[in-house]
Amino acid sequence: MLVNFTTPNMRIPFDNSYSKLPDHFYERADPAQVPAPTLITVNNSLATELGIEPEWLRSDAGLAVISGNTVAEGSEPLAQAYAGHQFGGFSPQLGDGRAILLGEVIHANGERKDIQLKGSGRTPFSRGGDGKSALGPVIREYLMCEAMFALGVPTTRALAAVTTGEKVIREERIDGGIFTRVASSHLRVGTFQYFATRNDTEAIKTLVDFALNRHFPHAETSLSPALTLLEEVISAQAQLIAHWMSIGFIHGVMNTDNFAISGETIDYGPCAFMDDFHPNCVFSAIDRDARYSWGNQGSIAHWNLTRFAETLLPLLDPEPDTAMKLAEAALNSYSKQFINLYHLHYKSKLSLTEDAPIEFIQGTLSLLADQQVDYTLFFRRLTQLANKDTEASKLVELFIDAEACLKWIDEWITLLDDDLITTMQQVNPITIPRNHQVEAAIQQAYKGDFTLFHRLHEAWKHPFTENPEHEDLELAPLPEERVTQTFCGT
Ligand code: AMP
Ligand code: MG
Repeated sequence: MLVNFTTPNMRIPFDNSYSKLPDHFYERADPAQVPAPTLITVNNSLATELGIEPEWLRSDAGLAVISGNTVAEGSEPLAQAYAGHQFGGFSPQLGDGRAILLGEVIHANGERKDIQLKGSGRTPFSRGGDGKSALGPVIREYLMCEAMFALGVPTTRALAAVTTGEKVIREERIDGGIFTRVASSHLRVGTFQYFATRNDTEAIKTLVDFALNRHFPHAETSLSPALTLLEEVISAQAQLIAHWMSIGFIHGVMNTDNFAISGETIDYGPCAFMDDFHPNCVFSAIDRDARYSWGNQGSIAHWNLTRFAETLLPLLDPEPDTAMKLAEAALNSYSKQFINLYHLHYKSKLSLTEDAPIEFIQGTLSLLADQQVDYTLFFRRLTQLANKDTEASKLVELFIDAEACLKWIDEWITLLDDDLITTMQQVNPITIPRNHQVEAAIQQAYKGDFTLFHRLHEAWKHPFTENPEHEDLELAPLPEERVTQTFCGT
């Protein structure tokens, strides 16, 4: 890997571009001082890939930067402006209220990455909030995003986590933390909405060029940049959401301000992985109408992309009718792409022949829901069964009704493509971040003990590999261990 420490004094090789955009795209904002920062962890491999020496990041000087106590050389801290639809209701002004972009660096693979502190104090966008983060959401985001990365899902990453030595006031006084997030960018649908609602077409044009250059450089020379961007974002999101659903992931807060233009999973607030399968499964305590349930994610993405297309209309064509038709055609292609990808995921999860009927997939999922089957264990044991590593009884025991399972196996065998069996191992994870495990690590962290955090983080680095040391983590929670609610990371 080529890592180039070109500027010896600059410990983080910043190369900022967002700060060069017009002034009304952001507000300058320095991180707040914290009394007693302590390192929880640094992501050594990611740091190295970003041209940052992990040893330095772990040192007092590095800790001062990731706790917000020092502004590193080359950093131009700022809070980005954005709007957003939250649970369907539009807020024309949100913005980074508890996050500060330190700047950008170039990854070893040539891609530009944002480095952002989350929970580093108030910004001009904080409204009534304190701009801080409790420790729990820091632990959750670290574990979840790194597990998602290991599962092969496009995602923002974790560079570091610290405790601040300061209490934050939520329902009670609890320990505060700061999370260092790395993202391909923090452009969201809400960024475009911020300018669209102000009729600032010039700004949208600037964003389109910025986003194409940064995320879809192969399409930069397009004769119709806005349409190309719309089509690229649609494809990236169709892939992302189908992938989420295939592994049982529920984002939980798919507001348009949490919907990234890059196609990365962003904003790990109340997210969780399902245990027992149910399409209406919801974890988030504030999602009372199940708007962001597992099974709604495909159509919510379409809704969000429609909001995105609306911001681009003036740039799609000067003639409103034509612009509308172009947007509609692109959005229709989302539905086709999404359904196609969704089926492809299940075809490989179930190792189905090319001509297996699509209805079999739907029937399988309905059966899992009726029988309250653990989603991850079902596909794990099916993979073992297909590989003759286990008896059918291990699958049957996941069902309420043994007969229903045996009948399903009989049908499945007739549709099985033997050539795909090895693929099953690459798509059906053995360990996923189960919600009760994440919650246990959070509770331990509040007691000052990070042992479980480190253990889980290590275990979830290799989700498709058998490891006898992590066998206990494969198990579904006992009824009394289940944690069925999550809360937003405020
Ligand atoms: P989120 O739920 O993380 O997507 O955040 C939604 C909006 O609320 C964003 O504009 C955040 O910056 C803002 N926000 C969330 N928590 C806080 C906080 N503790 N202080 C200030 N702003 C916040
Ligand atoms: Mg957000």
